[in-house]
Amino acid sequence: MRRRLSPIALAVAFAPSLLAAQALPAPTVRDLGGGIYLFQTAPYGDVGLDGNSVAIVGDGGVLVFDANGTPAAAEAVLAQLRKLTTVPVRYLVLSHWHWDHWYGAEVYARTFPKLEIIAHERTRALMAGPAVAFNQPGVDEQLPAHIAAVDARLTQLRQQRDSGVARVERHLAADRFFLEQKRGVRHTLPTRTVRDSLTIDLGGRTLQLLHHDRAITPGDLYLYLPRERVVVLGDLLINPITYSLFCYPSGWMRTLDAIAALEARLLVPGHGDPMTDGSLLSATRALLAREYAVARTLKEGGVALDSARSAVLADREVQRLRDVITGGDASRRESFALYLVDWYVRRVYQELDGTLDDSIPRLP
Ligand SMILES: [Zn+2]
Repeated sequence: MRRRLSPIALAVAFAPSLLAAQALPAPTVRDLGGGIYLFQTAPYGDVGLDGNSVAIVGDGGVLVFDANGTPAAAEAVLAQLRKLTTVPVRYLVLSHWHWDHWYGAEVYARTFPKLEIIAHERTRALMAGPAVAFNQPGVDEQLPAHIAAVDARLTQLRQQRDSGVARVERHLAADRFFLEQKRGVRHTLPTRTVRDSLTIDLGGRTLQLLHHDRAITPGDLYLYLPRERVVVLGDLLINPITYSLFCYPSGWMRTLDAIAALEARLLVPGHGDPMTDGSLLSATRALLAREYAVARTLKEGGVALDSARSAVLADREVQRLRDVITGGDASRRESFALYLVDWYVRRVYQELDGTLDDSIPRLP
């Protein structure tokens, strides 16, 4: 069969991995002990960021928690995983519907025919339509427009013989690579769904997949290893600043309480580095409660959303917790104000109005 393929067919067949080799640096691998590995990838130019991917190696199989945001990144992670173990991947868990955690799922599905892909039932329902529709304008319009703008800037820099040409060339190549990847994704749906919890025996070790309430999305799953006392959180917590864009404030707080009660010795967030203590978890939880209380009082007093956001940000306790969460780094204040105040207070107002449902909202 292979001999009959024309050189063009071969080029097409192998193009994705050749591209991957050119544009993606190898992921960083962190050995978290006890057969638990964290894989972190570099950003895609200035247009995208993968979620963390975590592998749990058991005697009878490997469980991978989250599959990166592109097939190329998942391939790169799998290549690193293959260096660590020959045990096949039996389970792929997708924590929630955001593209940066599941668009690489096809790589695991085609490499491991017996693979089970697991997600919460509401997450699967979103992945089967709304999540892909939500991402489509980015792929069809926003990304191409951004790339055209960077390309125009590059032409200008070349004419001026600017020293920044090489940097912008790399940046443009990474952006184009990302767009190609996103256009080529085969959306691969979960084969098994969870409502409340699922216990998995990996051979020699037991893991629990848990869902507590609507939190960052309607169907967040997190992973708990009871013996090792490790929790893999997905985007329920990001180190250091969690994206609250589409969150469900009260359910998120209840979920963080349930996670805190597990008293884990290691917390692995959806983005950023693992944590060996609960200080970010408790500071974020306290922040959400404080903001909720301040915002509710403001709303009851008839204060409009925009004014409420500035008032919440000016609250002294909110500022104290901001300094804990950002480690006092002033360059993170802008992200904090957007991701954990502007977006969150908006969701609090909507929750108080009773308008939050399981659909994906439009971007503000
Ligand atoms: Zn994410």
